[in-house]
Amino acid sequence: MRITFLGTGTSQGVPVIACGCEVCQSLDFRDKRLRVSIHLEIADKSFVIDTGPDFRQQMLRERIHKLDAVIFTHEHKDHTAGLDDVRAYNFSQKRDMPIYARPSVLEQIQQEFAYAFTAIKYPGTPQITLNEIHNTPFEVEGITFTPIEVLHFKLPVYGFRIGDFTYITDVNHISDEAIEKVKGSKIVVIGALRKEKHLSHFTLSEAVEVLDKIQPEQAFITHISHQMGLHRDVDEELPAYIKLAYDGLSVTC
Ligand SMILES: [Zn+2]
Ligand SMILES: [Zn+2]
Ligand SMILES: [Zn+2]
Repeated sequence: MRITFLGTGTSQGVPVIACGCEVCQSLDFRDKRLRVSIHLEIADKSFVIDTGPDFRQQMLRERIHKLDAVIFTHEHKDHTAGLDDVRAYNFSQKRDMPIYARPSVLEQIQQEFAYAFTAIKYPGTPQITLNEIHNTPFEVEGITFTPIEVLHFKLPVYGFRIGDFTYITDVNHISDEAIEKVKGSKIVVIGALRKEKHLSHFTLSEAVEVLDKIQPEQAFITHISHQMGLHRDVDEELPAYIKLAYDGLSVTC
C-alpha cells in the first residue's frame, strides 16, 4: 500500500490568509499545508479519505487519474467541501463515485450538495452513490477498512485502519478500546493542531502520549496549524519514530 499525504493542514490551511507570522511567511515547502486528506493506493485500487476544499488541486498535483471511492472521517467543511470536483472522475470513468460515511455524515453531505441528490439534475452535476458505514469493518473494492471511533470535542469521528496502517485526523480523545484496535499498526497517522491546549484537537504532546501507548514502528502528525511552529524546528523535537507529515510525502506500508 502506498500512502500519499495530499494535505496536512488544519481547517484554514497554512499559510493562513492575511497572517504575517513566521510560519505563514516561511519559504520551506513543508510549511505549506493544504487541508487534510490522504490518498491510498492498494494493488490497483485508489481511494481518498476526505475531500476538503483543496481536493481538485491535490488530485492534479499528485496526478491521480483514477479514483475508486471516497471515505469520510466526519462532516466538517475542511473534510467535505471539495466533493463537487468528483465530477471529473464521473466524466473520465463514466460511473458514479461511491462515497462511504456514517449516516449523520451522509445526511450532512446531502444537505450541502443538495443539487447532486435531486430527482431531476442539471447536466454535469456530480454523480454520487451513498454507502452507510458503522463502527464495524467494511469492504470497499475488496479492501477492508476498520473504523476507529474517536471524539473530536463531542463529535464522533472515524479514523480508519487498513491492514498495518491507521489514519486518525480530528481527535482529542481516544478510548482504550479504540487504542486496542490501532495496536499492531506499523504506521500510525494522528492529528495534532499545535502545542497549546485546544477544545477539539490533540496538542502535540497529547498526540505523542497516545502514540507511545500504541507503539507503531513509524508515526506521522497531521492536521497542523500555523501555531505549531516551523516544520524544521518541531520535527527535531520529536521522538525518533515520530515525524510531522508534510504535503506530498509518500510512504509505503
Ligand atoms: Zn478538520
Ligand atoms: Zn500564520
Ligand atoms: Zn473537524
